[in-house]
Amino acid sequence: MEHKMKPESLMMSYGYRPEWSEGAIKCPIFQTSAFVFRTAEEGKAFFEVAYGLRAPRSEEIPGLIYSRINNPDLEILEDRLKLWEEAEDCAVFESGMAAITTVLLEFLRPGQSVLISNPLYGGTDHFIKKILPQFGIAVLEFYAGMNEQEIAGAIGNVPDQHPLALIYVETPANPTNALIDIEACKRLARRFSQNNNEVVLVVDNTYMGPLWQHPLQHGADLVLYSATKYIGGHSDLIAGACLGSRRLMKRVKTLRTFLGNMASPHTGWLLLRSLETLKARMDIQAANARHVAAFLSSHPAVEKVYYLGNLGPSDGEQFHIRNRQCLSYGAMISFDIRGGEPEAFRMLNNLRLVKLAVSLGSTESLAEHPYTMTHADVDVNLKARLGITPSMIRLSVGIEHYEDIIYDLRQALDSLL
Ligand SMILES: *Cc1c(COP(=O)(O)O)cnc(C)c1O
Repeated sequence: MEHKMKPESLMMSYGYRPEWSEGAIKCPIFQTSAFVFRTAEEGKAFFEVAYGLRAPRSEEIPGLIYSRINNPDLEILEDRLKLWEEAEDCAVFESGMAAITTVLLEFLRPGQSVLISNPLYGGTDHFIKKILPQFGIAVLEFYAGMNEQEIAGAIGNVPDQHPLALIYVETPANPTNALIDIEACKRLARRFSQNNNEVVLVVDNTYMGPLWQHPLQHGADLVLYSATKYIGGHSDLIAGACLGSRRLMKRVKTLRTFLGNMASPHTGWLLLRSLETLKARMDIQAANARHVAAFLSSHPAVEKVYYLGNLGPSDGEQFHIRNRQCLSYGAMISFDIRGGEPEAFRMLNNLRLVKLAVSLGSTESLAEHPYTMTHADVDVNLKARLGITPSMIRLSVGIEHYEDIIYDLRQALDSLL
């Protein structure tokens, strides 16, 4: 029987052959705009396939034309990203927002509506609530932590003239780690699909990265990433990715070609390098987070800790969703300190090793204040409803030694006592 390699074993070489590049062990940066055709006939054939004028003949591989349409660094990167969640196809973008907005623009039309979970990443929230309505798209909302009946209730408000076309979900929710049942959302997407109108379920999986949750296996049609976060993971690039079936990804890739928001060859190359250590980094981050969460739960200046590993049977549905959906407790921890904004700021200003910065999933630990930073733009009443208060600090646990992270957090928290 053939041995099936694990994705982490394939990240160093999959999809690349040294003979393509003078024997170079690593895929070089193909920093080029266009690719030379051997003959005019070959150029014609490449365009026919790229523009879908005819189906590729058997054994015919799409030829390289122009880096907005295809580039080896991006294609190899996409082939490797597919392995983590056994997706049929993948497209990488110049940012997470580019991936998100391309999907929304491709699958929503004027006169339709989109159902979203709350809270959403600030940029996504802005695009959906402030920009999509200008194109005649209605927005329906529900909250992380709601059950299937309650979500169905939110869809129940769909105006007849605005059929539901897309469900957009972020789980675990940022910054509270509240969970949404992807399978329940899929059942609702099926229930509200009509003959010529398929409701597409899209999940932003940035918070769990490609390792810790596989939304496609729970019924999501498309999964999105800010590759700036765990996939890039070194706080040195901005990128995005979308994965799903060949059928839907063909539409996503076509719109990407015409919006021109693909990642650059250099970003693609940096991501190839990052993917080699993705599993190692994420394993360490999750292991560190367990120690850090235990420490925070025991510190007298900490009121409450929001961490997937802290969910127990008494948390009901949230506990069951975690057990079904999440393969790890992740490395994102939020916590409420005793006190308000001044105390939270004092703690943040006292950090020495942990960086005071937004973003997440990086090699270095990062801390920020959601109320006044990442979620500054969110409606005050909504923040209250979601439990995002001035007492909350969000922590992304990095790969430093956990004793050093805890040492730094302790000295900063001790300043509140
Ligand atoms: C950062 C982030 C985004 C946006 O990605 P960019 O790479 O910054 O464009 C989208 N969703 C989530 C959950 C994020 O954390």
